[in-house]
Amino acid sequence: MAGVCHVRRRRGSGKGGPMGSEVLVPAAGMGLLAELIAERLPVRRLWLEEDPEAWLAEHGAEVRAVASTGPKAAIDEAWMRRLPNLEIVASYGVGYDHIDARSAGERGIIVTHTPGVLDDEVADVAMALTIMTVRRLPQAERYLRDGHWVNAPFPLTASLRGRTMGILGLGRIGKAIARRAEAFGVEIVYSGRRRQADVPYRYFSSPTEMAAACDILMVAAPGGPETRRIVDAGVLRALGPDGVLVNIARGSLVDEPALIEALRDGVILAAGLDVFEHEPAVPAGFLALDNVVLLPHVGSASHKTRSAMAQCVLDNLVAWSEGRSPLTPTPETPWRGAWRSGR
Ligand code: NAP
Repeated sequence: MAGVCHVRRRRGSGKGGPMGSEVLVPAAGMGLLAELIAERLPVRRLWLEEDPEAWLAEHGAEVRAVASTGPKAAIDEAWMRRLPNLEIVASYGVGYDHIDARSAGERGIIVTHTPGVLDDEVADVAMALTIMTVRRLPQAERYLRDGHWVNAPFPLTASLRGRTMGILGLGRIGKAIARRAEAFGVEIVYSGRRRQADVPYRYFSSPTEMAAACDILMVAAPGGPETRRIVDAGVLRALGPDGVLVNIARGSLVDEPALIEALRDGVILAAGLDVFEHEPAVPAGFLALDNVVLLPHVGSASHKTRSAMAQCVLDNLVAWSEGRSPLTPTPETPWRGAWRSGR
């Protein structure tokens, strides 16, 4: 899927899509996205309206395209009902658990996302977070800065050597992580809803059974109701006292209170987390612990990759505005040969 969204920075006429309609951007998110879209299509920044709710009530029927900047502005069925002529939701990110894509599909709305363009960036962070967590590198750096090194060397740590990584969700990003972990000499196993015929790794249908067979549990499956708290107290117990949990997927996949307890009581060794259930709020329980490494959801957050993601959103919107097929629709909203308006 990598490379499906092309970098094309032509300036357009600014006429917009069907009937000259604007692309509605509900929430600020990264400034870059609305700016980039505005180079080619008219944009309505909903958050800048004096009364966004009143604007929606008055103009909802005119909206045919939405650019979603992420989870801050959830797009559920009730919200979509307010936009009865909506044709496309172009989402900035590969995960779209903040959008009810199934309802969108039923209503004939295409949801697009940004698969492929961020895999390597997120996998780099996943691997870095794994090593930071196992070798306690952030703690070691704090130790030096706090002046303790002059008194004694930093304590020895656990090791990556001889470990097995169990990847929950061996998709685009999961596979990019697997390639990196293999280069580090780490054995790979995986779990998902189905066995993949073309991968050389051992498959487990049960996340708990996989957790018992590995000592690094890498969470890389999508968020949403199906995977909510899939990593629960039982999975953490199975991972065991030498086990390390790394989550670069979504906070909702992990039972956070159970994880805090498991880290506190030595049920597992350590955790590395890039994502949290109620971002940007991070549970105080994590902040109080020394055996967890916490990152502020930075998996894809480089200039280069975020630009590629924004370009992918724009490419999908331009395709819509020209009556062409979307480039990267989600599986729940497959392209059926025409836009809802029949173009
Ligand atoms: P993907 O290619 O669709 O891969 C998802 C994998 O999860 C698939 O292998 C799928 O396998 C598995 N899966 C799906 N539903 C499952 C379930 N109910 N139980 C167990 N496994 C399941 O997606 P991707 O592009 O790799 O992205 C994965 C996720 O990473 C995104 O959804 C997003 O939430 C997260 N992400 C995080 C960051 C960050 O900055 N931290 C950045 C980008 C993405 P089966 O179909 O066989 O189950």
